[in-house]
Amino acid sequence: MDLNQILSWLAQTNDAALTQLWAQADAARAANVGDEVQLRGLVEISNHCTSNCAYCGIRAANTTVTRYRMEADEILACARDARRLGYGTLVLQSGEDAKLSTDFITDVVSRVKAETTLAVTLSLGVRPKEDLEAWKAAGADRYLLRFETSDPALFAKIHPPRCAPLAQRLAMLRVIHDLGFETGSGVMVGIPGQTYESLARDILLFRELDLHMVGVGPWLPHPQTPLGHDEGPAPKDQVPNDELTTYKVVALTRLLIPDANIPSTTALTARSGVEGRELGLQRGANVIMPNLTPPAYRRLYEIYPAKAKTADNADAFDARIKARIRAIGRVPGEGRGDSRAHRRHWQGGQHD
Ligand code: SF4
Repeated sequence: MDLNQILSWLAQTNDAALTQLWAQADAARAANVGDEVQLRGLVEISNHCTSNCAYCGIRAANTTVTRYRMEADEILACARDARRLGYGTLVLQSGEDAKLSTDFITDVVSRVKAETTLAVTLSLGVRPKEDLEAWKAAGADRYLLRFETSDPALFAKIHPPRCAPLAQRLAMLRVIHDLGFETGSGVMVGIPGQTYESLARDILLFRELDLHMVGVGPWLPHPQTPLGHDEGPAPKDQVPNDELTTYKVVALTRLLIPDANIPSTTALTARSGVEGRELGLQRGANVIMPNLTPPAYRRLYEIYPAKAKTADNADAFDARIKARIRAIGRVPGEGRGDSRAHRRHWQGGQHD
């Protein structure tokens, strides 16, 4: 699929044609990653952040946020919850928090790996290569770093000068890949100033970066952020931050990288309710990330509005999500849900 074909799908409004796109994406999902919905337990380990991304509710400049940083034992308790609930992966996410030291994360990863069979995904922002090497050596399996947009001018608009520039993020994604991590990234859909062509180029970049995991969600304006008050003129081909466009990006990503792991994101649910998550699963996605962060912390990790309202008892959410997965004819995954492409690359294709 080339740029023009992607652009044509992004502009498509005909219901019959879109039904065809969803069916193609769903068939590609079934053929390449099967019917299991991989469950990744998410733990938001710190909401401290030194960055000031213009769209993010926990940006450093938002002084209304109560900050927290979880203790290692608290994180380990969440890892045990993940195992108890039958999940195969633990995702540790935070703002760019320098006080989450190299040694602290190394220790946490080592303990999780020693105590459980969980795959460990880290999503801790831009960090030096030495940190990544230490965490890989400790047993971390995957790293997520969203580039948010491949358009350098738009990236600069939403990331103030002290944030790592786009080129540095893309370089870090290549380092992550070369170190042998399963590599994940993603973008927001409908950022003010984002054009269809820029979004189409994002999708092509997913493939060029050879990503194993791709997460996309609509941009959701947060009132405590500069972008939440953006009233500048929109380009005439401004991408809407709606669920339909997000589903299109999910579906097109599935068609471009058929064996990628693609979450049906919580941001999509915030936009369109619980059905949004299921529609994502039926339009190319194969991953859900149940939130295991203790509720007292979870409500403080409000990167976009209403996210805190997704707070739920982990056991109640688990029962509900597994029932809904079965209701759409899918199977709750129980293994690690490793990327097949990653395994092929690092193990010579013998175990696929
Ligand atoms: S998006 Fe990430 S790096 Fe940017 S302000 Fe939010 S937590 Fe910090």
